[in-house]
Amino acid sequence: MKATDADERAMRAALVVAKRALDSGDVPVGALVLDASGAVIASGFNERELTGDPTAHAEIVALRRAAQETGNWNLSGHTLVVTLEPCVMCAGAILSSRISRVVFGAWDDKAGAVGSALDVLRNPALPIRVEEVVAGVLAEETAGLLTDFFAAKR
Ligand SMILES: [Zn+2]
Repeated sequence: MKATDADERAMRAALVVAKRALDSGDVPVGALVLDASGAVIASGFNERELTGDPTAHAEIVALRRAAQETGNWNLSGHTLVVTLEPCVMCAGAILSSRISRVVFGAWDDKAGAVGSALDVLRNPALPIRVEEVVAGVLAEETAGLLTDFFAAKR
C-alpha cells in the first residue's frame, strides 16, 4: 500500500518520539497508536536500557499505553506507526492487540518480521492478520536515525 500524507505526518511525529530514546542510550525507535480518526492516543519509544526490560520495545510500550487509554486490549480499528520494521515479538503483540493497520519506516533486513526475515503480520497459517501494512514510509529519514546512532557508537 502507498503511504498517505497522513501516514507521513504520523511518521514525522514518530521520529520525534524515537529521539527521546537517545537520552538513555537506547536504540532510537518510536511508535504511535492512532485511533480511527487519525488522532494519536498513545506513544512509546524503545526503553530497554532505561527500564532494563527486554520487552520494552517502542511498539510494546505504545500498545500498552493505548490499551490503558481506551480501557480495552482490543485495538481493532487503530493504526500502529513505528519508525522501524517490527521484530517477531512486536509483530506477535500487534496481532494480539488486533491492530488493523501498521505503518513502518525503515526496513530491518536482519530481524524484521513484517516482510524481511519473516512476515508474521500476513501469515496465512495464523488465525489473525492485520488488514493493511504500509512499509518504507520516510525510509531515508527513519533509517538515517538508526545509521547515525550506530555510527556514533563505534
Ligand atoms: Zn520489537
